[in-house]
Amino acid sequence: MSVLDNQKYDRIIIGGGISGLSASIKLAEAGKKTLLLESQNELGGKIRTLSLMGALTEEGPDELIIGYKKFDELLMHANIFDELIYPETSKFYIFARNKLRIFPESLISGIPSFNLNNIYNFVTSGLLSSKGYARTILEPLFRIKNFKDDLSVKELFEEKFGLEFTKNVIDPLFGGIMGADISIISAKSYIPYIFQVAKAGKSLSFYFSKKRGNRHFNISSTLNGMYGVIVKLKQYAEKNGVKIITGKTVKSLEYVNNKWNISTDIDSIKCSKLILAVPSYIAAGFVYDFDKKLSSLLSSIKYTDISVVNLVYKNYSVKLHDMISGFLMPSNSGFKLRGCTLMSRKWAYAKIKDHELIRCFLNRNSSKSEDFYVQSAAEELTQLGITTGYPEYYAVKIWDAALPIYTIGYSELIKKINEIIPPNIYLAGAPYNGVGVASSGISGIEAAEKSLSESTD
Ligand SMILES: Cc1cc2nc3c(=O)[nH]c(=O)nc-3n(C[C@H](O)[C@H](O)[C@H](O)COP(=O)(O)OP(=O)(O)OC[C@H]3O[C@@H](n4cnc5c(N)ncnc54)[C@H](O)[C@@H]3O)c2cc1C
Repeated sequence: MSVLDNQKYDRIIIGGGISGLSASIKLAEAGKKTLLLESQNELGGKIRTLSLMGALTEEGPDELIIGYKKFDELLMHANIFDELIYPETSKFYIFARNKLRIFPESLISGIPSFNLNNIYNFVTSGLLSSKGYARTILEPLFRIKNFKDDLSVKELFEEKFGLEFTKNVIDPLFGGIMGADISIISAKSYIPYIFQVAKAGKSLSFYFSKKRGNRHFNISSTLNGMYGVIVKLKQYAEKNGVKIITGKTVKSLEYVNNKWNISTDIDSIKCSKLILAVPSYIAAGFVYDFDKKLSSLLSSIKYTDISVVNLVYKNYSVKLHDMISGFLMPSNSGFKLRGCTLMSRKWAYAKIKDHELIRCFLNRNSSKSEDFYVQSAAEELTQLGITTGYPEYYAVKIWDAALPIYTIGYSELIKKINEIIPPNIYLAGAPYNGVGVASSGISGIEAAEKSLSESTD
């Protein structure tokens, strides 16, 4: 007998990443009988903690951002707050003017702040030439000409702070984190708070000098790595009655007699309300047969591919003496590396006796093998003066479609999707509400809330 038979659910969620899991909890807390279907054998989606030589490391995210009220509440309900740990260092480098340089704290959100200490900290960082610093500091005099409905992160920063600041600071900071080209990332959707201030014709430097103190976000994880968050959320979801089935791939959806019929290879189940917490290109496949336009809009959300290489070195092979958490690289550096986390310096769970654990991100090229990424990462770490020799051990994870990219015009695209989405289907996850773990979780919570508010059951 199929595992899906003879059951009635108020809501079915497809996709057991952080967004689907968060949605399931919200629904169960509201008393709804909820089923969560996940194709992999484990929940978590992009959240994947790996055991390596007795320590832990990450194949996906390593940072859980605390400070988003809706998601913090969920973590509190699941008793995760008590288990949170924080990085042992938050300093990092960026590669600018041919070497790795400490990223000044005064630039943390990417905007130079105008108080004397911060200006000193910035202009002595070595990130820019004197001409570059002068142009950056003159930002209040520059307004964006012909402000359009949207523009790229590159255009916004070039017009406000000049070419050199954009190339040396913004490209590695935003492009390096996303593994994407800042000339296609939408400023309106990716950095809405900065976009709105620039649109109002205000100085970003002055505005964020004043506002900086108001933001309270912290980076965290658990002693069991990021998967520790999934374990606790799963326990809490099940305690509240969520039925979780893993290893179950949904193949198609059909709307029959006011119900959604959800089919896998071997069985099917009906439900009146669905949350699709899968990547947008998977959701596009689900709706293709009955709504080609929606399918095409969902397919047009772009993704970036990333290779993650975890490398374990003997202590003596690591030449870096600063206590830093990692570094970011610009797109035009000539290196394949886009970023690197020094896991064993940053996280308590990633320490290996007499060794250092380094995690590298490289842009993915589909024709290349795992060995290519290991070799490129190892060679480039040596070139950058971080290591010598070859790692003792490594693990590679290649993510096709790792992160959605909010390209220019993204907010219009989402508006159109929301206008034509069929009744009783709700979208959740990184493609829709912010790419991070917390934002994806919130997107799940909000999809659940929407389904509850429109509910007649
Ligand atoms: C390398 C990397 C590093 C990152 N670093 C950070 C970081 O440090 N901090 C941060 O905040 N964010 C980070 N992110 C982003 C963040 O991890 C993700 O955006 C977020 O976890 C996405 O969650 P989600 O639920 O939207 O999607 P996913 O995690 O992709 O979950 C979707 C789920 O749907 C399932 N599924 C797909 N198809 C089907 C089907 N047909 N039937 C059933 N189930 C299906 C999948 O198996 C998957 O489990 C990183 C991402 C990557 C890849």
